[in-house]
Amino acid sequence: MPGDTGQMLMVRAPGPWRVLLLGITALVQACSKPEPRGEPAESSSASGQVAATEERLRIAGIDAIPLMETKGWVDSRTKWASPRIAVCWEQSALGYSREQGWIKDALSKSWEDASAVQFVGFTACTAGQPGIHVALEDSGARTLGLGRELDKVSNGLRLNPAFSSWNSWCAADEPTRESCIRANAVHEFGHALGFVHEQNRQDTPTSCNAPRQGSDGDLVLTPWDPDSIMNYCNRDRMRQSGRLSQGDRDAVEKFYGNEI
Ligand SMILES: [Zn+2]
Repeated sequence: MPGDTGQMLMVRAPGPWRVLLLGITALVQACSKPEPRGEPAESSSASGQVAATEERLRIAGIDAIPLMETKGWVDSRTKWASPRIAVCWEQSALGYSREQGWIKDALSKSWEDASAVQFVGFTACTAGQPGIHVALEDSGARTLGLGRELDKVSNGLRLNPAFSSWNSWCAADEPTRESCIRANAVHEFGHALGFVHEQNRQDTPTSCNAPRQGSDGDLVLTPWDPDSIMNYCNRDRMRQSGRLSQGDRDAVEKFYGNEI
């Protein structure tokens, strides 16, 4: 996982609003608890970081501005250069053709449907092959990084096809297992696009007390979303077969565009 920049970005606001947002953000930060995870301190000044981030986003064509000292929702540094992203199946996934079909279908109805993102290939992986390497194994679903950090990484995205020991409620019957596989796939591929957990945002309301998990982002594109598939406080997220919220759809479209 990359180090946290200590920045956050929000949709571009007029000058006075930006000043107000910066002020509110600084106040919130001053009152907040220290981060539970130790991360390397930044060597450059905060204003320098913001300027550099603004420049990077301007080049990337993303209409957002950084806000200092808060956390975000996606890590813009891990955005793939092209929305056409290669995927391959690791050896562990090769016996699961039915599950592979569910995963591909779930992606086509979610991230791909809402944006220019296209997951392509789905061949058997060879070592060092470009793209996301997907394993299907009976352990916790997870990724070994965000976005293009997963490029060429062996077993970089792991999904569970059986649920014998992890989330065993998903093994109750075949429709439940299929729904869980679809939902987990859309969530983990969200990480593979650069999305971080929604509850990690600093504007998470107190009514959401799910623990922070994973690294933070540096870019907020949409309002805090209780229905996001990336939000642990969305308790239905694993029971909806990978359905994206409107906020998820808007965000991926902003991040990767919608022109194929
Ligand atoms: Zn996650």
